Amino acid sequence: MADTKKTVRHLLGLSGGKDSAALAIYLRDKVPEMEYYFTDTGAELPETLEFIDVLEDFLGKKIERLNADRDFEYFLKLHNNFLPSAQRRWCTINLKIIPFEEFVGDDEVISYIAIRADEPSRTGHTPTKPNIKTCMPFREDNITKEDVINILESCGIGLPKYYSWRSRSGCYFCFFQKQREWLGLKKHHPEFFEKAKSYEKFYQDGEAKYTWNQLGPLEDVVKRAEANKALDTAKIKPRRLFDQIASEDSDEDDDDDSGSCFFCMK
Ligand code: SF4
Repeated sequence: MADTKKTVRHLLGLSGGKDSAALAIYLRDKVPEMEYYFTDTGAELPETLEFIDVLEDFLGKKIERLNADRDFEYFLKLHNNFLPSAQRRWCTINLKIIPFEEFVGDDEVISYIAIRADEPSRTGHTPTKPNIKTCMPFREDNITKEDVINILESCGIGLPKYYSWRSRSGCYFCFFQKQREWLGLKKHHPEFFEKAKSYEKFYQDGEAKYTWNQLGPLEDVVKRAEANKALDTAKIKPRRLFDQIASEDSDEDDDDDSGSCFFCMK
């Protein structure tokens, strides 16, 4: 008699961030049948792409690159030039979630999510398909941010290079960036900063219309960040990268990233 029992696929999405990378390393030998994927929006930082390549070598297994059929500019036009925002996450839906759900198809899947034990309020993406079940090993095993950093450091992978100026992975123009991260983008990737600026639109009198940051156009955002940085430099001692990352949750500034999800930034 034919075996009608369906094989369950085990999937782990790498965002280019520290948590999903650490989870992949943590589970490498525990779940040998794991399939890895990375949803590439076409607007990723080169540091992210490089980190994914390094991980692929370390894991010894292919990381499937998933791309949407159309690029960001196509979807931007489709949304009448309305930039995506925390309230209108059409970017994540079109560039990340739909390619992932197509990758899954109708297969029975366990999707491993890198939400940590010290993030009790985070939920991650709730699958819309009943064949996708989620599993959060870090939460179950009481793994915290400090453990994650230790996992990455002890295997020699370390943190992605962008962590010296930005605390999350995701598109170079991501609206979840804080002011100082926009400033970092301008410094480290001026061409991406200019490209992000080019998507902003204004009324003829100069009033902001579609901007990435609710505080106003990007040029103003980085000016404000520069002023804040000058003040901070006067009063704060330099910190090691480890301390900087370890304290990032209590170091929030004016921008809200509470809606950021594991698809882009874990
Ligand atoms: S990283 Fe930011 S801009 Fe890119 S898909 Fe995710 S939420 Fe949207």
